[in-house]
Amino acid sequence: SLDKIPSWREENRPNDIEEGKELTGGGGLSDKVSLYKGDITVLEVDVIVNAANSSLLGGGGVDGCIHKAAGSCLYDECHSLNGCETGKAKITCGYDLPAKYVIHTVGPVARGHVGSTETNDLTSCYQNSLRLMEEHDLSTVAFPCISTGIYGFPNEPAADIALNTVKSWIEQNPDKITRVIFCVFLETDFAIYKKNMSVIFPDN
Ligand code: ADP
Repeated sequence: SLDKIPSWREENRPNDIEEGKELTGGGGLSDKVSLYKGDITVLEVDVIVNAANSSLLGGGGVDGCIHKAAGSCLYDECHSLNGCETGKAKITCGYDLPAKYVIHTVGPVARGHVGSTETNDLTSCYQNSLRLMEEHDLSTVAFPCISTGIYGFPNEPAADIALNTVKSWIEQNPDKITRVIFCVFLETDFAIYKKNMSVIFPDN
């Protein structure tokens, strides 16, 4: 469960936890984010985000893994949604997943190019997912590295957008969201996130 995944602060200050310092310190942004490397479909959170395509009918990569793990009821519900535009997001149940819900968002097809359209669309994916989550009173979420697989958004700028968009959102809406897990799958993304999280969520 979520107890097994440390927050970014816990991971970086294990001695504080042992000494009980979390009772006095903490409460900052680094308590609300985690870096996790592995399969998003095993995470027991309120909602996992799917890097879907505009049909919402499944595909390769993380989308295929989520549909496989959730079962065919997810396909049926997605089928009833009439697709989704780039940068927007739609919510479904999680069915056979441990996560209660899935938010399907459609990242930009970047093919290596990062212009203002791609940047704005990827930012919107994170914002619209967080907004939808709050509208449904969900407090814990895991994001994959949206658009960085088949859609070809370069990993460094994608991580920068993911981390800074989430940071701004939880700064501006501090009450509802208790945990955002950045679920990376590749070692290269793990290294990029680890480096950037130390800078963006420094109070650890
Ligand atoms: P997109 O089409 O948006 O680029 P992809 O699914 O191709 O989406 O890739 C997005 C990211 O998801 C990539 O970093 C890929 O390695 C990762 N990924 C693939 N399978 C999983 C999984 N089961 N859990 C988490 N991330 C995954």
